[in-house]
Amino acid sequence: MPRAFITGVTGQDGQHLAEFLHGKGYEVFGLVKGQNNPRMVQMRDEFPYVQPVPGDLADLPSLVKALEYAQPDEVYNLGAISFVAMSFNQAELTANITGLGVLRMLEAIRMVGGASENSMRLYQASSSEMFGKVRETPQTERTPFHPRSPYGCAKVFGHDIVVNYRESYNLFACSGILFNHEGPRRGLEFVTRKVTNSVARIKLGLQKEIVLGNLDSKRDWGYAGDYVKAMWLMLQRDQPDDYVIATGETYSIEELVKFAFAEVGIENWRDYVRQDPKFFRPAEVDLLIGDSTKARTELGWKPEVDFPTLIKMMVAHDLKFESDKIR
Ligand code: GDP
Repeated sequence: MPRAFITGVTGQDGQHLAEFLHGKGYEVFGLVKGQNNPRMVQMRDEFPYVQPVPGDLADLPSLVKALEYAQPDEVYNLGAISFVAMSFNQAELTANITGLGVLRMLEAIRMVGGASENSMRLYQASSSEMFGKVRETPQTERTPFHPRSPYGCAKVFGHDIVVNYRESYNLFACSGILFNHEGPRRGLEFVTRKVTNSVARIKLGLQKEIVLGNLDSKRDWGYAGDYVKAMWLMLQRDQPDDYVIATGETYSIEELVKFAFAEVGIENWRDYVRQDPKFFRPAEVDLLIGDSTKARTELGWKPEVDFPTLIKMMVAHDLKFESDKIR
Protein backbone atom coordinates (compact mmCIF):
# COMPACT_ATOMS: atom_id res chain seq x y z
CA MET A 1 0.00 0.00 0.00
CA PRO A 2 1.61 3.33 -1.01
CA ARG A 3 1.82 5.93 1.74
CA ALA A 4 1.15 9.66 1.43
CA PHE A 5 1.77 12.47 3.91
CA ILE A 6 -0.18 15.72 3.47
CA THR A 7 0.43 19.08 5.15
CA GLY A 8 -2.60 21.38 5.06
CA VAL A 9 -4.81 18.29 5.17
CA THR A 10 -7.66 20.16 6.88
CA GLY A 11 -7.85 22.78 4.09
CA GLN A 12 -9.81 22.64 0.84
CA ASP A 13 -7.10 20.97 -1.25
CA GLY A 14 -5.98 18.67 1.56
CA GLN A 15 -9.50 17.29 1.87
CA HIS A 16 -9.86 16.71 -1.89
CA LEU A 17 -6.40 15.14 -2.09
CA ALA A 18 -6.93 12.85 0.92
CA GLU A 19 -10.18 11.62 -0.65
CA PHE A 20 -8.50 11.09 -4.04
CA LEU A 21 -5.47 9.23 -2.64
CA HIS A 22 -7.64 7.08 -0.37
CA GLY A 23 -9.64 6.11 -3.49
CA LYS A 24 -6.37 5.08 -5.13
CA GLY A 25 -5.55 2.76 -2.23
CA TYR A 26 -3.06 4.97 -0.38
CA GLU A 27 -2.55 5.00 3.33
CA VAL A 28 -3.01 8.71 4.11
CA PHE A 29 -1.30 10.64 6.92
CA GLY A 30 -2.03 14.31 7.63
CA LEU A 31 -0.05 16.88 9.59
CA VAL A 32 -2.30 18.55 12.15
CA LYS A 33 -1.06 21.59 14.00
CA GLY A 34 -1.95 23.09 17.32
CA GLN A 35 -3.44 21.91 20.55
CA ASN A 36 -7.08 20.84 20.39
CA ASN A 37 -7.40 21.97 16.74
CA PRO A 38 -11.18 22.27 16.08
CA ARG A 39 -10.73 21.11 12.49
CA MET A 40 -9.56 17.73 13.85
CA VAL A 41 -13.12 16.85 14.85
CA GLN A 42 -14.39 17.52 11.32
CA MET A 43 -11.50 15.47 9.92
CA ARG A 44 -12.27 12.53 12.15
CA ASP A 45 -15.95 12.56 11.14
CA GLU A 46 -15.57 13.15 7.41
CA PHE A 47 -12.20 11.52 6.67
CA PRO A 48 -11.80 8.72 9.21
CA TYR A 49 -9.13 7.09 7.03
CA VAL A 50 -6.72 10.03 7.46
CA GLN A 51 -4.22 9.29 10.21
CA PRO A 52 -3.43 12.56 12.02
CA VAL A 53 0.19 13.28 12.87
CA PRO A 54 0.95 16.22 15.18
CA GLY A 55 3.41 18.85 14.00
CA ASP A 56 3.89 22.31 12.57
CA LEU A 57 5.59 23.77 9.49
CA ALA A 58 7.32 26.22 11.83
CA ASP A 59 8.99 23.39 13.75
CA LEU A 60 11.61 21.30 11.92
CA PRO A 61 12.00 18.60 14.60
CA SER A 62 8.24 17.98 14.47
CA LEU A 63 8.42 17.50 10.69
CA VAL A 64 11.31 15.06 11.08
CA LYS A 65 9.33 13.07 13.66
CA ALA A 66 6.21 13.14 11.48
CA LEU A 67 8.09 11.74 8.47
CA GLU A 68 9.81 9.11 10.62
CA TYR A 69 6.39 8.02 11.83
CA ALA A 70 4.51 8.09 8.50
CA GLN A 71 7.36 6.80 6.30
CA PRO A 72 5.60 8.20 3.22
CA ASP A 73 6.42 7.49 -0.41
CA GLU A 74 4.92 10.85 -1.33
CA VAL A 75 4.80 14.16 0.58
CA TYR A 76 2.29 16.82 -0.46
CA ASN A 77 3.15 20.21 1.04
CA LEU A 78 -0.14 22.11 0.86
CA GLY A 79 0.11 23.78 4.28
CA ALA A 80 0.43 27.57 4.17
CA ILE A 81 -0.94 30.88 5.33
CA SER A 82 -2.93 30.99 2.11
CA PHE A 83 -5.14 34.07 2.27
CA VAL A 84 -3.50 36.91 0.34
CA ALA A 85 -5.33 39.71 2.20
CA MET A 86 -4.17 38.32 5.57
CA SER A 87 -0.58 38.07 4.36
CA PHE A 88 -0.39 41.89 4.22
CA ASN A 89 -1.20 42.07 7.94
CA GLN A 90 0.86 39.07 9.05
CA ALA A 91 3.74 39.21 6.59
CA GLU A 92 6.37 37.69 8.86
CA LEU A 93 4.16 34.76 9.82
CA THR A 94 3.39 34.22 6.12
CA ALA A 95 7.10 34.25 5.23
CA ASN A 96 7.78 31.77 8.01
CA ILE A 97 5.05 29.23 7.21
CA THR A 98 4.42 29.67 3.48
CA GLY A 99 8.09 30.30 2.62
CA LEU A 100 10.46 28.82 5.22
CA GLY A 101 8.05 25.95 5.85
CA VAL A 102 9.03 24.59 2.41
CA LEU A 103 12.72 24.72 3.30
CA ARG A 104 12.03 22.87 6.56
CA MET A 105 10.08 20.19 4.70
CA LEU A 106 12.91 19.74 2.19
CA GLU A 107 15.43 19.41 5.03
CA ALA A 108 13.19 16.92 6.86
CA ILE A 109 12.96 14.83 3.68
CA ARG A 110 16.76 14.89 3.30
CA MET A 111 17.19 13.83 6.93
CA VAL A 112 14.59 11.07 6.97
CA GLY A 113 14.12 10.07 3.35
CA GLY A 114 17.59 10.59 1.91
CA ALA A 115 18.30 11.40 -1.72
CA SER A 116 18.23 7.98 -3.32
CA GLU A 117 15.97 6.38 -5.90
CA ASN A 118 13.69 5.31 -3.06
CA SER A 119 13.59 8.74 -1.44
CA MET A 120 10.33 10.43 -0.59
CA ARG A 121 8.87 12.39 -3.46
CA LEU A 122 7.71 15.95 -2.76
CA TYR A 123 4.87 17.94 -4.28
CA GLN A 124 5.08 21.66 -3.48
CA ALA A 125 1.98 23.84 -3.84
CA SER A 126 3.26 26.80 -5.84
CA SER A 127 0.81 29.48 -6.89
CA SER A 128 -0.21 31.74 -9.76
CA GLU A 129 0.11 34.60 -7.25
CA MET A 130 3.85 34.36 -8.00
CA PHE A 131 3.12 35.92 -11.43
CA GLY A 132 1.47 38.92 -9.77
CA LYS A 133 2.00 41.95 -11.99
CA VAL A 134 2.10 39.69 -15.00
CA ARG A 135 4.98 39.99 -17.47
CA GLU A 136 3.13 38.13 -20.22
CA THR A 137 -0.30 36.67 -20.94
CA PRO A 138 -1.07 33.81 -20.70
CA GLN A 139 1.43 32.71 -18.04
CA THR A 140 3.54 29.57 -18.51
CA GLU A 141 6.28 27.75 -16.57
CA ARG A 142 8.78 30.16 -18.16
CA THR A 143 7.01 33.43 -17.26
CA PRO A 144 9.11 35.52 -14.81
CA PHE A 145 7.66 36.06 -11.35
CA HIS A 146 6.61 39.46 -10.00
CA PRO A 147 4.67 38.80 -6.79
CA ARG A 148 2.35 41.49 -5.42
CA SER A 149 1.83 40.36 -1.82
CA PRO A 150 3.80 38.88 1.08
CA TYR A 151 1.99 35.62 0.24
CA GLY A 152 3.23 35.75 -3.36
CA CYS A 153 6.78 36.55 -2.21
CA ALA A 154 6.77 33.61 0.21
CA LYS A 155 5.49 31.29 -2.54
CA VAL A 156 8.30 32.45 -4.85
CA PHE A 157 10.84 31.52 -2.17
CA GLY A 158 9.17 28.12 -1.75
CA HIS A 159 9.22 27.56 -5.50
CA ASP A 160 12.84 28.57 -5.94
CA ILE A 161 14.09 26.52 -3.00
CA VAL A 162 12.38 23.41 -4.40
CA VAL A 163 14.18 23.93 -7.73
CA ASN A 164 17.44 24.52 -5.86
CA TYR A 165 17.18 21.38 -3.71
CA ARG A 166 16.16 19.32 -6.73
CA GLU A 167 19.26 20.50 -8.59
CA SER A 168 21.61 20.42 -5.58
CA TYR A 169 20.62 17.17 -3.90
CA ASN A 170 18.88 15.21 -6.64
CA LEU A 171 15.55 15.17 -4.76
CA PHE A 172 12.39 14.15 -6.57
CA ALA A 173 10.61 17.43 -5.91
CA CYS A 174 7.96 19.01 -8.16
CA SER A 175 6.03 22.28 -7.97
CA GLY A 176 2.55 22.70 -9.34
CA ILE A 177 1.90 26.32 -10.23
CA LEU A 178 -1.80 26.16 -9.56
CA PHE A 179 -4.09 28.95 -10.63
CA ASN A 180 -7.07 29.73 -8.37
CA HIS A 181 -9.10 26.63 -7.66
CA GLU A 182 -12.36 26.70 -5.82
CA GLY A 183 -15.33 24.61 -4.77
CA PRO A 184 -17.90 24.15 -2.00
CA ARG A 185 -15.07 23.42 0.48
CA ARG A 186 -13.42 26.80 -0.11
CA GLY A 187 -13.17 29.02 2.98
CA LEU A 188 -15.70 31.86 3.23
CA GLU A 189 -12.92 34.47 3.14
CA PHE A 190 -12.14 33.78 -0.54
CA VAL A 191 -14.17 35.78 -3.03
CA THR A 192 -15.87 32.88 -4.90
CA ARG A 193 -17.25 31.24 -1.77
CA LYS A 194 -18.00 34.59 -0.15
CA VAL A 195 -20.14 35.45 -3.18
CA THR A 196 -21.90 32.07 -3.62
CA ASN A 197 -22.63 31.84 0.10
CA SER A 198 -23.91 35.42 0.30
CA VAL A 199 -26.07 34.95 -2.79
CA ALA A 200 -27.61 31.83 -1.21
CA ARG A 201 -28.26 33.75 2.02
CA ILE A 202 -29.81 36.70 0.14
CA LYS A 203 -32.08 34.31 -1.76
CA LEU A 204 -33.16 32.72 1.54
CA GLY A 205 -33.79 36.14 3.14
CA LEU A 206 -30.94 35.75 5.65
CA GLN A 207 -28.77 38.60 4.37
CA LYS A 208 -29.43 41.92 2.58
CA GLU A 209 -26.25 42.68 0.63
CA ILE A 210 -22.69 41.61 -0.22
CA VAL A 211 -19.82 43.96 0.61
CA LEU A 212 -16.86 43.48 -1.72
CA GLY A 213 -13.59 45.10 -2.83
CA ASN A 214 -12.18 45.27 -6.35
CA LEU A 215 -14.67 43.96 -8.94
CA ASP A 216 -12.35 44.43 -11.93
CA SER A 217 -9.55 41.96 -11.23
CA LYS A 218 -9.62 38.76 -13.26
CA ARG A 219 -8.86 35.20 -12.28
CA ASP A 220 -8.44 31.86 -14.03
CA TRP A 221 -10.70 29.78 -11.77
CA GLY A 222 -10.86 25.98 -11.84
CA TYR A 223 -12.33 23.27 -9.62
CA ALA A 224 -10.16 22.05 -6.72
CA GLY A 225 -11.29 18.44 -7.26
CA ASP A 226 -9.73 18.51 -10.75
CA TYR A 227 -6.52 20.16 -9.58
CA VAL A 228 -5.51 17.62 -6.92
CA LYS A 229 -5.32 14.95 -9.66
CA ALA A 230 -2.57 16.98 -11.32
CA MET A 231 -0.59 16.98 -8.05
CA TRP A 232 -0.61 13.19 -7.97
CA LEU A 233 0.17 12.86 -11.70
CA MET A 234 3.33 14.99 -11.26
CA LEU A 235 4.71 12.55 -8.68
CA GLN A 236 4.11 9.51 -10.93
CA ARG A 237 6.51 10.75 -13.66
CA ASP A 238 10.04 9.42 -14.22
CA GLN A 239 11.58 12.87 -13.76
CA PRO A 240 10.55 15.71 -11.42
CA ASP A 241 9.44 18.96 -13.06
CA ASP A 242 7.18 22.01 -12.58
CA TYR A 243 3.78 22.45 -14.21
CA VAL A 244 1.22 25.23 -14.64
CA ILE A 245 -2.28 23.97 -13.80
CA ALA A 246 -5.02 26.24 -15.12
CA THR A 247 -8.19 26.33 -17.24
CA GLY A 248 -6.95 28.96 -19.72
CA GLU A 249 -10.11 31.02 -19.25
CA THR A 250 -10.42 34.19 -17.21
CA TYR A 251 -13.39 35.96 -15.62
CA SER A 252 -13.72 39.16 -13.59
CA ILE A 253 -15.07 39.36 -10.05
CA GLU A 254 -18.03 41.26 -11.54
CA GLU A 255 -18.79 38.32 -13.86
CA LEU A 256 -18.55 35.94 -10.91
CA VAL A 257 -21.13 38.03 -9.03
CA LYS A 258 -23.43 38.23 -12.06
CA PHE A 259 -23.27 34.44 -12.67
CA ALA A 260 -23.94 33.62 -9.02
CA PHE A 261 -26.99 35.91 -8.79
CA ALA A 262 -28.33 34.57 -12.11
CA GLU A 263 -28.27 31.07 -10.56
CA VAL A 264 -30.93 32.13 -8.04
CA GLY A 265 -32.92 34.14 -10.62
CA ILE A 266 -31.77 37.63 -9.56
CA GLU A 267 -30.87 39.88 -12.53
CA ASN A 268 -30.63 43.28 -10.74
CA TRP A 269 -27.52 42.14 -8.85
CA ARG A 270 -26.13 45.70 -8.51
CA ASP A 271 -28.90 46.47 -5.99
CA TYR A 272 -27.39 43.91 -3.64
CA VAL A 273 -23.67 44.74 -3.98
CA ARG A 274 -21.76 47.44 -2.11
CA GLN A 275 -18.05 48.15 -2.32
CA ASP A 276 -15.91 48.97 0.72
CA PRO A 277 -12.26 50.14 0.61
CA LYS A 278 -11.43 47.74 3.44
CA PHE A 279 -11.63 44.85 0.97
CA PHE A 280 -9.22 46.48 -1.50
CA ARG A 281 -5.58 45.36 -1.27
CA PRO A 282 -2.45 47.53 -1.01
CA ALA A 283 -1.25 45.94 -4.29
CA GLU A 284 -3.40 43.87 -6.63
CA VAL A 285 -2.93 41.05 -9.10
CA ASP A 286 -5.02 42.37 -12.00
CA LEU A 287 -5.15 39.53 -14.49
CA LEU A 288 -4.33 35.84 -14.27
CA ILE A 289 -4.72 33.41 -17.13
CA GLY A 290 -2.67 30.23 -17.32
CA ASP A 291 -1.35 28.15 -20.20
CA SER A 292 -1.34 24.52 -19.02
CA THR A 293 -0.17 23.01 -22.35
CA LYS A 294 2.79 21.27 -20.67
CA ALA A 295 0.57 19.55 -18.08
CA ARG A 296 -1.94 18.62 -20.77
CA THR A 297 0.69 17.02 -23.01
CA GLU A 298 3.08 15.51 -20.44
CA LEU A 299 0.66 14.56 -17.65
CA GLY A 300 -2.45 13.97 -19.75
CA TRP A 301 -4.28 16.31 -17.35
CA LYS A 302 -7.17 18.57 -18.22
CA PRO A 303 -9.82 20.40 -16.21
CA GLU A 304 -13.28 18.80 -16.28
CA VAL A 305 -15.34 21.56 -14.62
CA ASP A 306 -15.61 24.99 -16.30
CA PHE A 307 -16.29 28.25 -14.48
CA PRO A 308 -20.08 28.51 -15.03
CA THR A 309 -20.48 24.87 -13.87
CA LEU A 310 -18.26 25.56 -10.84
CA ILE A 311 -20.39 28.54 -9.77
CA LYS A 312 -23.59 26.55 -10.32
CA MET A 313 -22.16 23.77 -8.10
CA MET A 314 -21.12 26.20 -5.36
CA VAL A 315 -24.44 28.12 -5.31
CA ALA A 316 -26.41 24.84 -5.17
CA HIS A 317 -24.22 23.65 -2.30
CA ASP A 318 -24.61 26.91 -0.37
CA LEU A 319 -28.40 27.01 -0.82
CA LYS A 320 -28.58 23.58 0.82
CA PHE A 321 -25.90 24.39 3.41
CA GLU A 322 -27.69 27.57 4.53
CA SER A 323 -31.22 26.11 4.47
CA ASP A 324 -30.09 23.07 6.50
CA LYS A 325 -28.84 25.48 9.17
CA ILE A 326 -32.23 27.19 9.59
CA ARG A 327 -34.27 23.97 9.64
P1 GDP B 1 -6.58 35.28 -4.40
O1 GDP B 1 -6.54 35.32 -5.90
O2 GDP B 1 -5.79 34.15 -3.83
O3 GDP B 1 -6.24 36.58 -3.76
O4 GDP B 1 -8.11 34.89 -4.05
P2 GDP B 1 -9.31 35.74 -3.41
O5 GDP B 1 -10.55 34.93 -3.64
O6 GDP B 1 -9.02 36.14 -2.00
O7 GDP B 1 -9.36 37.09 -4.26
C1 GDP B 1 -9.54 37.07 -5.66
C2 GDP B 1 -9.77 38.49 -6.15
O8 GDP B 1 -11.01 38.96 -5.68
C3 GDP B 1 -8.72 39.52 -5.71
O9 GDP B 1 -8.37 40.29 -6.84
C4 GDP B 1 -9.47 40.38 -4.71
O10 GDP B 1 -9.02 41.74 -4.67
C5 GDP B 1 -10.88 40.32 -5.29
N1 GDP B 1 -11.93 40.65 -4.31
C6 GDP B 1 -12.86 41.62 -4.44
N2 GDP B 1 -13.64 41.67 -3.35
C7 GDP B 1 -13.19 40.73 -2.50
C8 GDP B 1 -13.60 40.30 -1.19
O11 GDP B 1 -14.54 40.82 -0.59
N3 GDP B 1 -12.88 39.26 -0.63
C9 GDP B 1 -11.84 38.67 -1.28
N4 GDP B 1 -11.21 37.65 -0.70
N5 GDP B 1 -11.44 39.07 -2.50
C10 GDP B 1 -12.10 40.07 -3.11
